[in-house]
Amino acid sequence: MNTHRTRGTTRQWTSPGPSSPHNASVTSGFEELLDNNRLAAERFSESGLAVSPSRKLAVVTCMDSRMDVFRILGLGNGEAHILRNAGGVVTDDMIRSLCLSQRELGTTQILLMHHTDCGLQKVSERDFMARIEHEVGIKPWWALEAFSDPFDDVRQSIQRLYMTPFLIHKERIRGFVYDVDTSRLHEVQLSHN
Ligand SMILES: [Zn+2]
Repeated sequence: MNTHRTRGTTRQWTSPGPSSPHNASVTSGFEELLDNNRLAAERFSESGLAVSPSRKLAVVTCMDSRMDVFRILGLGNGEAHILRNAGGVVTDDMIRSLCLSQRELGTTQILLMHHTDCGLQKVSERDFMARIEHEVGIKPWWALEAFSDPFDDVRQSIQRLYMTPFLIHKERIRGFVYDVDTSRLHEVQLSHN
C-alpha cells in the first residue's frame, strides 16, 4: 500500500505495479493538471449556473485537441452542451446524449461541427478493424466511422439526426466544417448537387 496526502486527507491504494501504464511521466502530467485545477478553483466565480444550457444549444463535434469549442463559438460556461467523440459522428451514444439534452434539459438547437485534417480521415476503416481483430481476436462491434471528406460526413450526420425517432427538435440543425488552420467555420449545405 502506498499513501498519498492531499489537502489534509490521506488516501490509500494498491501499487499499480511495473506493467501499469501509470508510469512516471504520465503521473507527473496528471500532477500538473491537478495543480492547474487548484489555481482554477481559487479563481472560480461561476457557481450556481443552471444545469439547462441558457442558449438551448447542443454542439456535436470532434475530440480534436486543436478545437477550443468555447473560444471558436464565443460560448461561456452554462450556455451549451458540448458533445464530443472521434469525428463528431452521430452515433447511438451521441443520440443518447442529445435525447437527454432535448427532452430533459431543454435544448432545441443542434450545431454539428466537423473539421479539416481530422484523424478519421487518415485511417482505413477496413485496415483498422482487421488489425484490431488480428491483435485481440475479436472484431469490434462498433464502426470506426472513418471518412474522407468532412463536408460529406457532416451531411451524413445531419441526415442521421433527421432520421432518428428519438429527438423532438429538428427544426434548427446546422452543420459546419471548422478549418484548423484559419479557425473559420464553413457551413455545409444538405443539397450540394
Ligand atoms: Zn477530428
